[in-house]
Amino acid sequence: MKSILNPKFSALCPKSTTFTPFSLPSQFPTRFSFTNNPSRFPNLLRRNPPPFSSLIRSLQTDPTPPPSGEIHVIVGPMFAGKTTSLLSRIQSETASGRNVAIIKSSKDTRYGLDSIVTHDGAKLPCWALTNLSSFKLKFGVDAYEQLDVIGIDEAQFFDDLYEFCREAADHDGKTVIVAGLDGNYMRRSFGSVLDIIPLADSVTKLTARCEMCGKRAFFTLRKTQETQIELIGGVDVYMPVCRQHYVNGQVAIEAARLVLESQKTQCGSHTHT
Ligand SMILES: [Zn+2]
Repeated sequence: MKSILNPKFSALCPKSTTFTPFSLPSQFPTRFSFTNNPSRFPNLLRRNPPPFSSLIRSLQTDPTPPPSGEIHVIVGPMFAGKTTSLLSRIQSETASGRNVAIIKSSKDTRYGLDSIVTHDGAKLPCWALTNLSSFKLKFGVDAYEQLDVIGIDEAQFFDDLYEFCREAADHDGKTVIVAGLDGNYMRRSFGSVLDIIPLADSVTKLTARCEMCGKRAFFTLRKTQETQIELIGGVDVYMPVCRQHYVNGQVAIEAARLVLESQKTQCGSHTHT
């Protein structure tokens, strides 16, 4: 299975040439110097250049700097349109002639494993993987080289998200667009999604509509009594809610859970008597 979209575009539009941000004419002095205004800086600085002067020099003279990629993160509660937003960005990259691939977690089998489908029905081919580190080999090293953009959906399910995104953007020059839940049903950080915020060029937090009152919804309320963190489900299990209805809902669900537990205990004690 190969999910490069519109490969004909990539053939017509080769990867853009590498931009060298620090290139300078060879006669330009590469040594970092404060001598233009000696009164502002102690002589110590001029006699013993600070360690970063050698770093600046190496940046100026490095003939092959690594290609520069990008990381864009889309977060929000369930039903906020994260996958729709991801697919829309991917489609616009494809329309610009860029070579793209989409990865999703193999844990989510609700819509089949070979395609990604939004709640409103849009559908694109994708790779369903258990971890991101296997992507390069499975996709093919040569095909990976040709990729410009990698989309990752349901990013909260990938434990190696940080390492993959850093490698892809910093060293491989890829644009990585990541969509995932920032918080779980307990409003705690979910997986590694928040860990990649310091790596990101941009972060977008989307909102849904509160199912109870129609206001903007920032959180995902689990309607059932299950307590494991990873529980794949749709509208049967989850609903988007505003802050007020999240708090009210949690209270109601906790009360229902306690009633159920006490009933179970009573049933259990009956069977022993
Ligand atoms: Zn509400």
